[in-house]
Amino acid sequence: MKLTIGHLYPDLLNLYGDRGNIQCMKMRCQWRGIEAEVREFQITDAIDFSGLDIVLLGGGSDREQMLVCEKLKTIRSSFRDYVEDNGVVIAVCGGYQLLGHYYDTDDGRIEGLSLVDLYTEQGSPRLISNIIIQNEMFDFPIVGFENHGGRTFIGENRPLGKVLFGYGNNEKDGAEGVLYKNVVGTYLHGPLLPKNPHVCDYLLSHALERKYGNGELEKLDDAQELEANRYIVDRFAGRR
Ligand code: GLN
Repeated sequence: MKLTIGHLYPDLLNLYGDRGNIQCMKMRCQWRGIEAEVREFQITDAIDFSGLDIVLLGGGSDREQMLVCEKLKTIRSSFRDYVEDNGVVIAVCGGYQLLGHYYDTDDGRIEGLSLVDLYTEQGSPRLISNIIIQNEMFDFPIVGFENHGGRTFIGENRPLGKVLFGYGNNEKDGAEGVLYKNVVGTYLHGPLLPKNPHVCDYLLSHALERKYGNGELEKLDDAQELEANRYIVDRFAGRR
């Protein structure tokens, strides 16, 4: 078995260790004897989504997002076909905002991919915090770090989780991230997946299910990863 992971624009969208998410997916595949190939795409590269099983869109500053936004117009339709065909996507922070229709900043509008029905507006102050969220479908909370000026509104979409500590999508509605088909959007980085192996396996399992019709994953010993997760939960949960 083999999964091919596409990393979109790592030179521009790679804040706060997003690359660690790639490493994590790769290792958790390899530990199970699943081959994992990572393809990095630069802004000038053509992307054939039909050869990809997981796509990572990382975080970026407003300026970098503005640069990427022009390029996104050219891949929007093939990216949308991939998403509608249940392709797996993990989009973090700036990448998450770009999944939506737009991100309005003081310096103008950054057009998004419109892959998911959501939008973002810049606000003040920046929302900077450790963050813990919960989703009943996972046995453990999801922990991370958030640092964003944008406030994201996901309408009727399902969030990735309910905020237990931190700000989340917009500091108002108690929701964090988005789930749409096999797309996961989130403000959590730091990076996200090493401290949340359950989220990593969620992505791998959906990618395997789509490709091979069976998303069952061999269990790994996650004692260390979950200890890191619990440390954050014990430190912050219940404080606010
Ligand atoms: N530039 C975006 C914001 O400030 C995203 C930041 C990020 O990716 N960390 O909201």
